[in-house]
Amino acid sequence: MNLPRRPGFPARIASLGTGAGARPSSVSRQAAAPVAPVATGWGMDSAAVRQRMVQRLAADGVKSPTVLRAMGTVPRHQFVDSALVAQAYEDTSLPIGLQQTISKPSVVARMVELLEGAACAQPNGLGRVLEIGTGCGYQAAVLSMVAREVYSMERLRGLHEKARANLRPLRLSNVHLLLGDGMLGYPRGGPYAGIIAAAGGESLPPAWPEQLAPGGRLVAPMMNEHGQQMLLMVDRNFDGTWTQTVLEAVHFVPLKSGVA
Ligand code: SAH
Repeated sequence: MNLPRRPGFPARIASLGTGAGARPSSVSRQAAAPVAPVATGWGMDSAAVRQRMVQRLAADGVKSPTVLRAMGTVPRHQFVDSALVAQAYEDTSLPIGLQQTISKPSVVARMVELLEGAACAQPNGLGRVLEIGTGCGYQAAVLSMVAREVYSMERLRGLHEKARANLRPLRLSNVHLLLGDGMLGYPRGGPYAGIIAAAGGESLPPAWPEQLAPGGRLVAPMMNEHGQQMLLMVDRNFDGTWTQTVLEAVHFVPLKSGVA
């Protein structure tokens, strides 16, 4: 459904058209930025476990070679507490402190693959991407292999710093970590080819669709009128209008305002 040029995005997504099953075809691309190898106690073991995770993702329908390569490269076990390392490559969300969670791998892969389907995506990947909710920094690392520049904003100082520490050894020069309220977006880094939110609210912050470039795509969890959290996709058309699609039900931590 096409929306007017300046949409008053509804408080809830109830009235929007559904697009379940509207999975865009993926495009084969080169990785934008290789992740530097990191010495770990797990060594080659973690690479093998990670490859099994990638095989499961592919079997479950993830098609994009770029996304599969990113998921097979980023060492997820280095983003979780040592007590949880054994679960790092299971398809499960895990606590990362301050009552927040790292999303499960299948959800990260699904959302990044959707983002990659943005109409403005180039054969060598996406341009600038904004992530709302850095958390432990894992998804930012995955995005760094799919997009030219990644701006990732976190409202909790403790997690912003944890992400910085987690990402430092990977030396990803295209990831920019920001401490702030992502509900306002980050106009200085925009307009964005992609905006991806890892926390779900009751309404879509108006700043997000406004900061999408023509041909850009937003993927975010959002509440419907039944109080159920759904994955919402918003495409900015080349004529400046927006098209929204409601996808499957998801479970994300709440989107909150302010910095803490
Ligand atoms: N992508 C993350 C997942 C983090 S969970 C990862 O890979 O680990 C979602 C995060 O969104 C939480 O850390 C939470 O603090 C953050 N968050 C919630 N509301 C926010 C807001 N308005 N601005 C920025 N971050 C927010």
